[in-house]
Amino acid sequence: APVILWFRQDLRLADNPALRAATKTGSVLPVFVLDDAAAGAWAPGGAARWWLHHSLATLAADVRTHGARLLLLRGSAETLIPALAAETGARSVQAGRLYEPWARRRDQRVAEALDALGGKLVLHTSSLLTEPHRVRSGSGAPYAVFTPFARAVMALGEPEAPLPPPRRMAMPAKAPAGERLEDWGLLPRRDWAGEFPGRWQPGEAGAAARLRDFLQCVPRYDTDRDLPAREGTSRLSPHLHWGEISPRQVWHAVRDATKGQSAETFLKELLWREFSHHLLWHRPEMPEAPLRAGFRNFAWAPDARHRRAWERGATGYPIVDAGMRQLWRTGWMHNRVRMIVASFLVKHLLQPWQQGAAWFWDTLVDANLANNSQNWQWVAGCGSDAAPYFRVFNPVLQGRKFDPGGAYVRTFVPEIAALPDTHIHSPWEAPDTVLAEVGFRLGRDYPKPIVDHAAARLRALDAFAALRA
Ligand code: FAD
Repeated sequence: APVILWFRQDLRLADNPALRAATKTGSVLPVFVLDDAAAGAWAPGGAARWWLHHSLATLAADVRTHGARLLLLRGSAETLIPALAAETGARSVQAGRLYEPWARRRDQRVAEALDALGGKLVLHTSSLLTEPHRVRSGSGAPYAVFTPFARAVMALGEPEAPLPPPRRMAMPAKAPAGERLEDWGLLPRRDWAGEFPGRWQPGEAGAAARLRDFLQCVPRYDTDRDLPAREGTSRLSPHLHWGEISPRQVWHAVRDATKGQSAETFLKELLWREFSHHLLWHRPEMPEAPLRAGFRNFAWAPDARHRRAWERGATGYPIVDAGMRQLWRTGWMHNRVRMIVASFLVKHLLQPWQQGAAWFWDTLVDANLANNSQNWQWVAGCGSDAAPYFRVFNPVLQGRKFDPGGAYVRTFVPEIAALPDTHIHSPWEAPDTVLAEVGFRLGRDYPKPIVDHAAARLRALDAFAALRA
């Protein structure tokens, strides 16, 4: 009987434990199921769908060169996977484990349905260095703070060496036809993703190339990673999300290529990724509800106009607007700027962090439920081990510190490019004579700030004080 290999967020052939298990015995039937209904609000957003389309196209081609065919199915996996097993006589379904609450519930039901047929669902550690349930504190409780969590993961030892890709995959003699990727409509109808192809190469080969390029940059990661104008970070996040590369492949490549503080700093980021998944596993309410219960009654001030200005990059704060436009144009935003724009939304504008998270979900090519929710809660001060709410970023000072020459802002907010460096992060402070010299008018060429920093900061602190009282 064939073995079903169910691809989910491990769209690769190398270092794929589910694939290794599936090819051990005989013929293998690789399948991907687009199951939006089960994911509900957390079905892949627009940018992630663009990515998924191209990633599946490359995976299908890679599978073909290995002698098999990727079966594409759309609908409820809970029904489709057991039906496929019944139709083909497959007894086992091998897959990488998922950590999203909806996926866990679904996998449970798939396992039960297969069990009733005399089959089984076997889940492998494919997307993480270690399973969230393996890391427990001395008291047996899950970790709520990053540093001891990271120490505990490190104490488990180096991750195992990555597995090589299979040489060949034998298909069963008879396999259903499946659907055509082109019929899934994953690509945007209105082409807002025009810049994506020049910036991203979804798929396993693209991930490997990205990693190879980044290995040259690792020695400078410590200093460059906070400067959004530089390509100082790996940009592996979408590849990691879809599992086109595994974290242990990244881990070992970085370890082998470099030693020293920069490599350590980078590897720590991979542990933040683990920590997010650890939290999501143990606190499945994380995408929707604040982990600190005290924040449930926070007095947000929902305002559609403010939210819209933030989404479009029209707040009048250049570093915020540059970040939001980078996100829209490229499907990605630099981590430092993600922190600044998120803080601006939840503190300066007092908009609920869930709305920011939803916008990111739709626009990020690396949208990942664990990382996105964990980081939004971190910025909003309501997460586990979060930044304290009362620490309100000043967007002007953040801009001056991390984009000192204004190169990043000039790239994404070209209408202010002619302003001198001294005013590039605060155009409203520029004297009229300076503005006139470059023919620039605030309010016409670029918005005036939608809120005043000092007043907004006080309003945020008041809201926080009211909560504490
Ligand atoms: P690098 O600096 O090269 O880091 C390497 C890898 O480590 C990343 O690819 C990522 O997998 C992981 N990593 C880095 N920083 C973090 C972090 N703070 N938390 C968890 N993992 C991390 N990351 C996502 O992958 N998906 C998201 O949906 C997401 N949403 C975010 C929302 C907010 C408000 C903030 C502040 C951060 C968010 N991040 C998210 C984390 C981080 O910004 C991105 O992982 C990072 O910018 C990706 O770029 P990179 O691959 O070049 O990172």
